[in-house]
Amino acid sequence: MKIPATMRAVRKLMPGAGLQLVSVPVPTPGPRDVLIRVRAAGICGTDYHIYTWDAWSQQRIKPALTIGHEFVGEIVVCGSEVHTLEPGMRVSAEGHVTCGICKFCRTGRGHICRAVKGLGVDCDGCFAEYVVVPEHNVWRVPSEVPDRHAAVYDPLGNAMHTAMAASLSLRTVLIMGAGAIGLFAVAIVKVAGAALVIVVEPNQYKRTLAAEVGADVVLDPASDDVLARVSDLTDGYGPDVILEMSGNPKAMQQAFRLLGNGGEICLLGIPAGGVQVDWAEDIMFKGITIHGITGRRMFETWYYVDEFLLRHGARIDPCITHVLPFEQIEEGFALMRAGTCGKIVLEFPI
Ligand SMILES: [Zn+2]
Ligand SMILES: [Zn+2]
Repeated sequence: MKIPATMRAVRKLMPGAGLQLVSVPVPTPGPRDVLIRVRAAGICGTDYHIYTWDAWSQQRIKPALTIGHEFVGEIVVCGSEVHTLEPGMRVSAEGHVTCGICKFCRTGRGHICRAVKGLGVDCDGCFAEYVVVPEHNVWRVPSEVPDRHAAVYDPLGNAMHTAMAASLSLRTVLIMGAGAIGLFAVAIVKVAGAALVIVVEPNQYKRTLAAEVGADVVLDPASDDVLARVSDLTDGYGPDVILEMSGNPKAMQQAFRLLGNGGEICLLGIPAGGVQVDWAEDIMFKGITIHGITGRRMFETWYYVDEFLLRHGARIDPCITHVLPFEQIEEGFALMRAGTCGKIVLEFPI
């Protein structure tokens, strides 16, 4: 396959809000990297943060940078030291590039590597016609998995990692927040055998999606008495498991209040600042277990996502509400701002 000299890429060219669609040279893979032609990519909340240039982006992002980290594509070039992959393979990739030699990497916990680099955060990402990824990070996609599903391995993996941290089978599960990852989590916990799935979400559009994906009960924190309803639904005990996907300090406090004695709470949503929790009443006396979740386990989570997509992939169809040509990424950000979308997938010319 002939590789062109230049490609289109969505880049942050300088500090400040906004992104530019520009022409840049196609990157050259190093000896242990592959060059992938992108077929489809998911827009993540992280991309939206970089687009709006929030406080986190200002201290983390060093322009110029091509953003994006959730994708599926086809390998077009392999570096000279790449032995397990070849051109033509359809692949996704783990967006966390780990050091491979620290204490955490060497004990199978690369997701908490302290020298981790993020694709589309610390190095050029996938909102471009081509992207370079280390061989170690590449994940081969089964042929039965369509592009729109394969593009979201990464956020589906976040939901999977969070859900699988707790014991779900025949448990009552509450999911706080129904953004794209919360919605994926609903589908996952249903498949994993939860007895009852309650979703708490303030946005009407997202509540409707949560019900479509299979939530048994969907509550609006603005109009429902969440404490009373959840207590009724769980015989007064509170849920066995809470997946915190909102990152909203008020919702997080409520989650700790709602969780039943001996319960498990898995925290994925990232709050902008500190969150106050009553340690004695809501953690110690209740004897709960808190799981802090970041990224995906490499690569245990990816095997789970494979199994899920192969056998239950159709369940996430309602979560993917928009598929747009990648040139229309601004429209995607507008939908995210309005809160009238689930997951948005960008399509590239192939
Ligand atoms: Zn993401
Ligand atoms: Zn490491």
